[in-house]
Amino acid sequence: MKKIAILRCLKTSASCAATGCFTAFNDKEKAFKRYEGEEVQLAAMWTCNGCCGDVLQNQAGIETKIARMAKNNISVVHLSCCTKKADENGEKVLCPNIAYIAQRLQALGIEIVEGTHGN
Ligand code: SF4
Repeated sequence: MKKIAILRCLKTSASCAATGCFTAFNDKEKAFKRYEGEEVQLAAMWTCNGCCGDVLQNQAGIETKIARMAKNNISVVHLSCCTKKADENGEKVLCPNIAYIAQRLQALGIEIVEGTHGN
């Protein structure tokens, strides 16, 4: 069975219970529509380790989390909608720290999909 993970924004997670992500996954809607007719398991939900003074104490722990994705045979990591922030023109742009983590995951052979219950 294909194992899926969702990567979220630490700051947003302070006030978000991830119900939108879980609903979309369970209903195989929005970014999870691609798994229609396929058996998939939501195997992990994790966050970045923060930014701009709003950070977790164990910064090195991000390496453990990245490594765990490969160790636990996660096939696809979805970047939740909250990992994109509006720029000065109001355009949603992927957070550069998340882009870096995504790059690292891709190097481990993990597919990256932008979006969960939105883009
Ligand atoms: S690094 Fe990006 S995704 Fe992580 S808390 Fe900061 S803004 Fe959110």
